[in-house]
Amino acid sequence: MSRAEKIKAPRGTFDVLGEQAGVRATLEARARAILEGAGYERIETPVLEATELFARGVGASTDIVQKEMFTLDDGGGRSLTLRPEGTAPVCRAYVEHGMHKRKQPVKLWYLSSFFRHERAQAGRYRQFWQVGAEALGSEDPAVDAESIVLLSTLLEEMGVRGIRLRLSSLGSRESRSEYRERLQAYLREHEASLSEDVKGRIELNPLRAFDSDHEGTKRVMEGAPRLLDHLGGEDSEHFARVRELLEAAQVPYEVDPTLVRGLDYYTRTVFEFTSDVLGAQSGVGGGGRYDGLVEQLSGPPTPGMGWAAGIERILLAGEPPPVVVSPVDLFVALGEELREEREGGDELRSSRVVRRRAAFELLAEARSAGLIAQMELAGRSLKGQLGYANALGARYVAIVGEDETVLKDMQGGGQETIATETVIHAVLRALRTL
Ligand code: AMP
Repeated sequence: MSRAEKIKAPRGTFDVLGEQAGVRATLEARARAILEGAGYERIETPVLEATELFARGVGASTDIVQKEMFTLDDGGGRSLTLRPEGTAPVCRAYVEHGMHKRKQPVKLWYLSSFFRHERAQAGRYRQFWQVGAEALGSEDPAVDAESIVLLSTLLEEMGVRGIRLRLSSLGSRESRSEYRERLQAYLREHEASLSEDVKGRIELNPLRAFDSDHEGTKRVMEGAPRLLDHLGGEDSEHFARVRELLEAAQVPYEVDPTLVRGLDYYTRTVFEFTSDVLGAQSGVGGGGRYDGLVEQLSGPPTPGMGWAAGIERILLAGEPPPVVVSPVDLFVALGEELREEREGGDELRSSRVVRRRAAFELLAEARSAGLIAQMELAGRSLKGQLGYANALGARYVAIVGEDETVLKDMQGGGQETIATETVIHAVLRALRTL
């Protein structure tokens, strides 16, 4: 019979194994400490959302909505999408649960997986993880600055190398719409030199021309009018305050008037952290203010500010602190079977059953007493069990016999034979004096 082909994880997805799971847990613990310490509350939203949430929330002209969503039919004629980003779902939840009635700002954080139908490459996947933070209900520039400082702290604690922070302001919707017309006129004047992609978006999303890699477009954009030079008075004031506060917090940044970011919902502050060690996919995390988004999702007018950072990129560019593995306090081993037991009659077999049961009970007791304990689960010989316990770094091994147990000190080297019911006590006492 021919064997069927092996099934692999789909393109652009990956398994998280062993040490990787450990560093991810460290990242999550650091994010929790930093964000919850600043009053952010954890939120989990569903993996599937109504497609309309992203069409309305992220914007019909964005790459995400135009070509990157995994969309499916729920069988009842409703279109669902695997979440491609976290801000629109958090705003949906804010509206759905009437969070505008709480004390503002409401601060929420998440660490979840997201899905985009992208061309998979190093640092760009189809299922990836983001840690994100959103603060809703206040337009105070201190919210913007605090939010940016928190991400900066997380990246620093994860040892992300070669960090740069670029910062800009897109102004309010009003100042942007005037500027948009000016930019559209400029782009039409230079249409012949632009990429097809950019040409096609002059009407819908002219600002995205700043993101283009196309040489001709890049040259045209060097002379393009800059949004930062056309901000209204209040927007300039807001931006100046954000900058002042970042300086007070000693977070270095560069103002980059070409930073537009790919999502339609941003207003005023936008920012992006990049790392020099990441090559082409240099974005580690970014975000900004989205003062109109909640209202666009049928909520009350509510300002908002947030960011998301890619877990894989943080780990690629970072030198995370070493994973601390809890040592095994006690390994419960089974005494060597006698040959008669293996071959012998019912009575002898029942003695083996008694020992296995005693070992299993000892394991449960050790865990209830708060010890980190493991037990032999693969039928190894006694020698094999001791080798395995050693590899686990176990401090003590209990070799369980029918009435008595040999307790072996794996670091000190000694051993003693004691009654099985006194083993836990002996281990606890020994660990206390270590
Ligand atoms: P965005 O939601 O596009 O602003 O992305 C925020 C961050 O998420 C980026 O800076 C990346 O670190 C990460 N990210 C976005 N898309 C992907 C992807 N396809 N694969 C891995 N990480 C991603």
